[in-house]
Amino acid sequence: MSGPEALGFAANLYRLPAPGGYFLVDAGLPWEARRLLRRLPGPPKLLFLTHHHLDHSGGARALWECFGIPVLAHPSEWPYLTGQRPRPPLPVPLLGGWLANLAPPLPKAALQPVEEGDEVLGWRVVALPGHTLGQVGLLREGVLVAGDALRGRGLPPRFINEDHALAQKTVRKILDLGVERIHIGHGRPLSRDEVEALARRLGV
Ligand SMILES: [Zn+2]
Ligand SMILES: [Zn+2]
Repeated sequence: MSGPEALGFAANLYRLPAPGGYFLVDAGLPWEARRLLRRLPGPPKLLFLTHHHLDHSGGARALWECFGIPVLAHPSEWPYLTGQRPRPPLPVPLLGGWLANLAPPLPKAALQPVEEGDEVLGWRVVALPGHTLGQVGLLREGVLVAGDALRGRGLPPRFINEDHALAQKTVRKILDLGVERIHIGHGRPLSRDEVEALARRLGV
């Protein structure tokens, strides 16, 4: 394994190579956790969460309980991860608020903060705000794991972005980082050309 390896769950989760093993980016839905645990070749070194949404962080508690590994996330996401603040409702009539908050909360002791510029096992943390305010990705040698900063060939829909204008600016930031290949939470990887086309369409 030399680059990110996608594990297809409700969202793409990623195994990233690290010295002497691997670590995991995102943890899937809470009810996917058992299947995820079966698919892992052994204990990951740590769990890195791109953002607090249920399809990315829902399995974090199960992973932490199973392996006792630290869970890295930007501090802006912590109140949702620990249950201190409810996650915004999912776009499902009536049940949206309930569904969004089905993840068992993480104790604060499980969490470690990450910020722009930190290094995680050879990868550099980059802030990718907009979809959520504390969304972070990982960059190494022109390869970016970007969470939901991009979705398909575009942006996630406006109504699930915490700050849509900021999400648009983040597209420009991704290009300014010199990224060549972008692994995203939903869909196949994007090339730089595809992100450039999107930036032109958005006028950023
Ligand atoms: Zn999301
Ligand atoms: Zn997602």
